[in-house]
Amino acid sequence: MKPPLLPEFATHEVVNQVPRLENYNLYAADPALREAVAREGAEGAGEADAWLLARGAELGSAGMIALGEAANQVPPTLKLFDGGGRRRDEVEFHPAYHDLMAYLKRHGASAGPWAEPGPGAHVRRAAFVLMYAQIEAGTMCPTTMTYAVVPSIMRDAPLAAEWLPRIFSRDYDPRFLPAAQKRGVTLGMGMTEKQGGSDVRANTTRAEPVGNRQYRIVGHKWFFSAPMCDAFLILAQAPAGLSCFFLPRFTPDGEINGIRIQRLKDKLGDKSNASSEVEFCGAQAWLVGDQGRGIPTILEMGTYCRLDCALGTAGLIRGAVAQAVHHAHHRAAFGRQLSEQPLMRNVLADLALEAEAAAALALRLARAFDGDAGEEASLLRRILTPAAKYWICKRGPAVAAEAMEVLGGNGYVEEGPLARIYRQMPLNSIWEGSGNVMCLDVLRAIGRDSRCLEALAAELAPARGRNAAFDAFAARLQDDLAQPALAEGESRRLTQRIALAVQGALLVRFAPAGVAQAFCASRLAGADFAGGAFGNLPGSVDFSTIIERARPA
Ligand SMILES: Cc1cc2nc3c(=O)[nH]c(=O)nc-3n(C[C@H](O)[C@H](O)[C@H](O)COP(=O)(O)OP(=O)(O)OC[C@H]3O[C@@H](n4cnc5c(N)ncnc54)[C@H](O)[C@@H]3O)c2cc1C
Repeated sequence: MKPPLLPEFATHEVVNQVPRLENYNLYAADPALREAVAREGAEGAGEADAWLLARGAELGSAGMIALGEAANQVPPTLKLFDGGGRRRDEVEFHPAYHDLMAYLKRHGASAGPWAEPGPGAHVRRAAFVLMYAQIEAGTMCPTTMTYAVVPSIMRDAPLAAEWLPRIFSRDYDPRFLPAAQKRGVTLGMGMTEKQGGSDVRANTTRAEPVGNRQYRIVGHKWFFSAPMCDAFLILAQAPAGLSCFFLPRFTPDGEINGIRIQRLKDKLGDKSNASSEVEFCGAQAWLVGDQGRGIPTILEMGTYCRLDCALGTAGLIRGAVAQAVHHAHHRAAFGRQLSEQPLMRNVLADLALEAEAAAALALRLARAFDGDAGEEASLLRRILTPAAKYWICKRGPAVAAEAMEVLGGNGYVEEGPLARIYRQMPLNSIWEGSGNVMCLDVLRAIGRDSRCLEALAAELAPARGRNAAFDAFAARLQDDLAQPALAEGESRRLTQRIALAVQGALLVRFAPAGVAQAFCASRLAGADFAGGAFGNLPGSVDFSTIIERARPA
């Protein structure tokens, strides 16, 4: 018989551990986001506010947070064959993945602004995406691609007539069936091949015409995310050059199309979502746009994906910062709450500035996508999309690492949310144009149409005269942008400065004075911002205002 434990060793009281951050309203608790919706959401902002309040409560519920965790704990599995050795080429997901996909579809994340256009429709969706990313990021992949594909489909009348009603449907239907038998669909994209994803002109996949805009596709894709989507836009070499094709999962006669999944990627993060390698063995596909015009045709889809990369990472940043601020208010060390320790307050405030600036920039970018926004908006969108994707996504991993450290050892273990956020962070920076490619795209935008710079100047002008650091920063930037030849090798610096200038302008105009001053003093004053460790704000900063504003509950 075992001797009984001595009473003093039998148990211990658990103290100073932080309650889980749950059952709070993600929207009500984020004044920076709420104010961004109010100013960017046009006439739709009032209605959007009420709608987002309802979504914020749902998303912050313990049940929704648990779904996000479950979907990532059990990654999808590939079922290549059935018991009889016949090919299935299906991916099976945890039920939580399907629940989350259904939630996103139901609330219009994959097509709402197209199905029900209106003032501020893209901004409303943008705020929803920014909140949703705090709960689960993998399900955003097929959702983003479905949202992003719509403009390309709209340009093709027969495709639009057949597919838009399915894309616009609010029903999520995960069954592996021909699209005509389903209540709703999702779409993906296939550009990246083994030999390179940035320079897609090097694609080797071939498209052989069989008549009537129909082609036979032979080749492969090296990254093919969400392979259970119902159709894809892909690039392949046609007789007249690289072209864009619509490739459904099933052929019109109801057979599984010639897409052979080879394996699923074993990824750093993004665990809930399946990313695959595929081969096309004579798959049936239909030309979208003109032969030889594949890149411009598919790039429109890419542009909307880039908007979502900026939004998704702004959401992950907010999620990380919310966890850090929450933790610091509930955890004590050396006899005081962490949130009361001067050095920790500096770190928290600096993180909070990053979250507010990211949300402001991402929502401003989303407004440039709203249909009625005009020519200046499209010029601004041209230069700001790559700049915002570049800078917000570059800041993400640094924020996640610092926020994790605020939680100490608890930040590093999988039971908490920071490990998942940290692993997810680099993805949006790599996907759909990695950092350098974004910077080269900024140069391309300026080189092709210098009116982009006028649109940028117009964006910065209303903030002038309110903060000396901002004024000097904006003036220097505009002088440098006016130089006749912009050096490719320095385009990261230039892109970063464009993003920082727009963030500064938004905060100077709209954020509380303490937030704007701290941002300008730490990111815009003096030598170019080096982006070193967080927690280097000057002592004059209004720490209380900034931290309280970022406190989630
Ligand atoms: C999880 C995940 C899911 C994905 N899903 C999809 C998908 O569904 N569909 C799809 O098509 N792709 C997908 N991708 C692929 C992704 O878009 C590519 O990985 C990305 O575009 C980079 O291409 P690459 O990997 O071939 O890198 P490369 O093209 O080899 O680039 C490597 C590095 O070189 C840099 N570089 C390239 N050209 C230059 C230059 N001229 N000057 C300076 N630097 C340069 C790039 O910025 C990058 O940092 C996915 C990727 C990941 C990680």
